[in-house]
This record gives sequence, structure tokens and C-alpha cells, in this order.
Amino acid sequence: MTANIMNKGLLIVVSGPAGSGKGTVNAHLLNSGEFVYSVSATTRAPRPGEIDGINYHFITKDEFKSRIERGDMLEYTEYCGNFYGTPKKEAEDVLASGKNLILEIEVEGAQNIKKKYPDAVLVLLLPPSYSVQEARLRGRGTETEEKIRLRLERAKEEIAFANVYDYVVYNRDGLDREAAEEIRAIVTAEKSSVSRNPHIAENYLNN
Ligand code: 5GP
Repeated sequence: MTANIMNKGLLIVVSGPAGSGKGTVNAHLLNSGEFVYSVSATTRAPRPGEIDGINYHFITKDEFKSRIERGDMLEYTEYCGNFYGTPKKEAEDVLASGKNLILEIEVEGAQNIKKKYPDAVLVLLLPPSYSVQEARLRGRGTETEEKIRLRLERAKEEIAFANVYDYVVYNRDGLDREAAEEIRAIVTAEKSSVSRNPHIAENYLNN
């Protein structure tokens, strides 16, 4: 990246319905070393392979409620019967350090973040179509039929809010690296935007 382009961290929200592959795409972004992932707190049970403190902070409903009361959550929501929230301190520390922070959150959280941080960049990651999404969810085999239906219903509700987002990226089968590249390109473009670089003339003339 050119030395003159803004070097402040960006707050990036990546939302995607169940089956969009956001975990895989975000993993590519994290591997690039240019992004930090915000580990959310949740009351849902860990899936096989998920690790406490890495995928989520897995906590009880009582603990979640007391964190809300203490004002420790930047935003939170209830999703398919469980609570999910972004720990405030962790997120604020990353932003203060100048790193790019990714929040992998659903649409209600995305809207709340945009209200609090109008500079945040909101990316909607989608499977190529609803039918591909359905096939992916069933293929994953990590949820019961009832939970899959709930998540598919939720996806239908969420797509109505697509206009809340700044960008849409499609995660086509086998092309998750390309989807991650698109998100990186969005971040690069955003950082180069004139509105995010207010001292262009000053820097040009005095350096
Ligand atoms: P999952 O149970 O599949 O891991 O996540 C369910 C949904 O909750 C996903 O859409 C995910 O992006 C969202 N989610 C995860 N963490 C948070 C959070 O901290 N806040 C909000 N608002 N949504 C979250």
C-alpha cells in the first residue's frame, strides 16, 4: 500500500447468512495478517471443532445478561434462540491500535454498528443463491433439521435488509479465496477514498 494512503484501521462488518461461507472467507483475511477478528460472545453451544476464546467466547445466558448490564457489549442481538454480542473493550483496543477489525455479525448488529460508527464498511457476503445455500447447510450436517429451517427462514428475512450494506460479495463454490480477495480490494479502495484522506494537499506539499 502507498505510504501516503490512510493508515488508520478500518472497522469492517462482514455479514452472511448461514451457509455463506463467511468463516472460511474470513479465515483467508486473517491469514493475510492485515486483519484482526473480533471474537464474539455467545450463549449457543460450541459446534464440534469450535474452540472457546477463538471461535467465540461461549458463556451462559446469565453471564451474557450481566455483561449487557455492565455495558460491556458494543452491540448484541438474539439470533435463533441464542444471544450473540461484540465485546466492547476488545473491539475498541484493536481500533485504537490502528488495525483493521472484522466483525462477523448479523444484520441487526450491522445496523447498530453503522449507527455508532458511520465510517464502518459493511459487506454482505452471499452464497450464489438461496438453493445453493440450502444445499450447503444440509451438507454441513452440523445442525438439526429444525435448526436448518430456522436459519433458512432467518436468511429470507435478512436479505430484505441488503440495502443496509455498502458492498455485496458472492462466495461461489470453491472460490472462497477470490471472495476474500474481493473484500481486501474493497478495503484498499475505501482506504484510498478522498473522504478518508482529508489532508491530501497538505501532505503532498509538505513531504
Ligand atoms: P453462528 O451460530 O452460525 O456462529 O452465528 C449465527 C449468526 O450470528 C451469524 O449470522 C453470525 O454472523 C452472527 N453473530 C456472531 N457473532 C455476533 C455478534 O457478536 N453480534 C451479532 N449481532 N451477530 C453475531
